[in-house]
Amino acid sequence: MKDDKIDIKTLDPQEYIAIIKKCGEKPFRAKQLHEWLWKKHAHSFDDMTNLSSELREKLSKEFFIGYPKITSKQQSKDNTIKIAFRLFDNSLIEGVIIPSGDRLTACISSQVGCALGCKFCATATMGFKRNLMAYEIYDQLAEIEKIALEQFDDSISNVVLMGMGEPLLNYDEVSKAINFMTTSNGMGMSPSRITLSTAGIISGIKQMADDNVKYNLAISLHTADNEKRSRIMPTNTKNDLFELKKVIQYFHEQTGSRITYEYLFLKGFNDTLDDAALLAEFCKISPCKINIIEYNPVNGIPFKPGSKQDLSSFVRYLENKNLIVNIRQSKGADIDAACGQLACRIERKKDKNNEK
Ligand code: SF4
Repeated sequence: MKDDKIDIKTLDPQEYIAIIKKCGEKPFRAKQLHEWLWKKHAHSFDDMTNLSSELREKLSKEFFIGYPKITSKQQSKDNTIKIAFRLFDNSLIEGVIIPSGDRLTACISSQVGCALGCKFCATATMGFKRNLMAYEIYDQLAEIEKIALEQFDDSISNVVLMGMGEPLLNYDEVSKAINFMTTSNGMGMSPSRITLSTAGIISGIKQMADDNVKYNLAISLHTADNEKRSRIMPTNTKNDLFELKKVIQYFHEQTGSRITYEYLFLKGFNDTLDDAALLAEFCKISPCKINIIEYNPVNGIPFKPGSKQDLSSFVRYLENKNLIVNIRQSKGADIDAACGQLACRIERKKDKNNEK
């Protein structure tokens, strides 16, 4: 609600027919309204040029169109772009465009802040504010797509829900958003180009399996040692590796999909051959691939990246076990856009200065 008006994007699109009927218009106008909101990403009823001015006026008396407003854009030396968005209630979130080879990946947020408190993550320092609504998740992608076309003359090829927040603690809205991304009434993307990344919420993975999702699942594993994992990811005390194994097996049986494990390579924490052996053992449960991510230090967080030498021995060990391993250089570190660095620092600082 804003000035007693309803955010039209929060309504189920099925309700557009009733709204249009109430305005005394023909039902096909509901389809046009849907197209403006979900395909053409209109920010104002005035943009809806094929609707009569009377209808636009009636709509704008009762509704407003919520969308994440871009408040800043930063480009890294490696061309990664970080975008800060301000939402209708002044909340801040971030999304990132990561160019790599012929891919343009959009990394988007699912919550404002995060409640899970992973020890290596800057977002965790913000605490949790609220879940994003489906359109706020979807519209980040729509806005990012516009920037990708302007800056790279190309469309977004892949989407990862790996920005701020734990998507499986906001599963219903995330599912609706992915549905808009993949339907022909929305962006029409292939689900195989979308990856949901979770810290390992067991009930959420079970739900994904039961829903037989067609998009990809990535799990931020970071170590296959249960006790050590609890030390850096407090959620592991409730979602431990023994239960996680069972639900991964179930997910694979239901969907037939291969799971990706994300592994931040942390000096003195998970960078030895014993750690690699534990990881290889864990990976036996179902077909998988491993993304080893080079860690980017975050101010005030005590972890450091593992050495190049340890990294190559680690990777060699896993490859000798016939595992698929990719090394991911975290991009955008100079603008705090890399993995685990999203915390809206610049925008929050501006807000604090304005309060003074
Ligand atoms: S790593 Fe992901 S799940 Fe963990 S605190 Fe950060 S945003 Fe939340």
